[in-house]
Amino acid sequence: MSDRVRRKIRLLFAASEAVPFVKTGGLGDVAGSLPRSLKQAGAKAAVIMPKYGSIPQEYQEKMRHVADFYVPLSWRSVYCGIERLSWQGVDFYFVDNEAYFKRDGIYGYFDDGERFAFFSKAICEAIMRLPELQCDVLHCNDWQTALAPVFLREFYGSSEACRKVKTIFTVHNVKFQGQYSDQVLGDVLGLADNPTAAGQLYCDDGSVNFMKGALCYADLITTVSPSYACELQMPFYGEGMDGIFRRRSSVLRGILNGIDQDAWNPKTDPFIARPYGVRNLAGKAENKRQLQRELGLAEDPTRPLVVMIGRLTNQKGLGLVRYAMGRLMERGVQVAVLGTGDKDQEDAFKYFDWTYGDQMCARIAFDNALSHRMYAGGDILLMPSEFEPCGLSQMIAMRYGTLPVVRETGGLQDSVVPYNRFTGEGTGFRFANMNADEMADVLLEACELFWTDAKAWSKLQRQAMGGDFSWDRAADEYLDIYHDLHPEIIRYNKKR
Ligand code: ADP
Repeated sequence: MSDRVRRKIRLLFAASEAVPFVKTGGLGDVAGSLPRSLKQAGAKAAVIMPKYGSIPQEYQEKMRHVADFYVPLSWRSVYCGIERLSWQGVDFYFVDNEAYFKRDGIYGYFDDGERFAFFSKAICEAIMRLPELQCDVLHCNDWQTALAPVFLREFYGSSEACRKVKTIFTVHNVKFQGQYSDQVLGDVLGLADNPTAAGQLYCDDGSVNFMKGALCYADLITTVSPSYACELQMPFYGEGMDGIFRRRSSVLRGILNGIDQDAWNPKTDPFIARPYGVRNLAGKAENKRQLQRELGLAEDPTRPLVVMIGRLTNQKGLGLVRYAMGRLMERGVQVAVLGTGDKDQEDAFKYFDWTYGDQMCARIAFDNALSHRMYAGGDILLMPSEFEPCGLSQMIAMRYGTLPVVRETGGLQDSVVPYNRFTGEGTGFRFANMNADEMADVLLEACELFWTDAKAWSKLQRQAMGGDFSWDRAADEYLDIYHDLHPEIIRYNKKR
């Protein structure tokens, strides 16, 4: 190619949430950490997200007004302010419209379809109007930004700034797709008279699906683990989109998320009783003792302490845990659960807490500090998810030497190496089927090892703690695919 250039690839990362401004799930962690690592890996990365009323005041005060303009949204012309805040070296741009975003919560409003259609259109408009937001790659995440690749192609083809932009769409959880009555097609999206676009967005007679739009229009699709990329192509996991994932499998990639290794570090964690590391695992025992005391569990180092931290929803395989609880209790295992979610799940774990006294504890709360103490004080983390696009808890647990017992699905399968009793290899334990007895068998085998072979156990802990779950690895992979989309831009830095 004759006109190749060596320069930093310009990336605009669009997401509906990002740490530390606002977070409801894993997407917030990704949008808060990945752009920083991409910048370190040699990209020019900026993030764009809505300016919610719930963003803490300390951040809102530091934002600087960059521009304002009106966004066409079908028959509407909607005000859009753009504000900027640099955080940890990355520029975050906030899309400001108080009618849409200055509310108590983030999602769950009657007009979510319109709110995020506006956000997606505002992204395109900002790329067209603001030189500092011009980019080579627009990286969209989940349904809230899914219309941006559609709008970019359908409305902004004549813009010099937009024409060369390649789009990537990342699926963090295919369960949430943004599906609305087809009235929005004309009333909000302004695409009712465009049969091609309408055809891609329709998912049945009466409704349109934002995620489907992105899956059809994006130049490249990624998801957050290689196994989930395969699973999405199967009816069981694909939530009705499996046909499109199969059709577009040549542009579908799975890249395992990382974790923020500074925030999750047992050597420096300010929330835990005693810091420890790979070479002085003794400190972990003190964390276990303190945790048992805090949670009202028997202070007994010989009892394996199984922790679970996460949303209490069906996705997390809680039915298996409920079924197996009696068997685990009989064997003297301790179980501690931290989470919030569906009422019936919360009630079931409260019931176990009440029934099993100093052997079982359920904390129905969202408590970041306690989660740190549980990762540090637990012996085993149980995660029997029905599906798990990536999962962060198992990676955090390994970093703290708390061995995960997981079902073989999605990112759990890609991040946990199963224990091999003959070679001593592994970083945790795995089981294959959604079957409570199978889960309990593997969990109790892990407990058996804990009871009978302290040397093998601590070897596994060290192997787990030594794994690389940094964002650097993921950032390198993302940078590779950005450059695949722009072969004319030579990679600025050497590969790490
Ligand atoms: P998902 O994104 O499906 O909710 P992940 O395992 O990818 O699950 O990420 C969950 C993150 O949220 C982890 O960092 C976990 O520690 C944290 N978390 C979940 N529930 C709670 C809770 N009740 N209290 C504190 N932290 C929680």
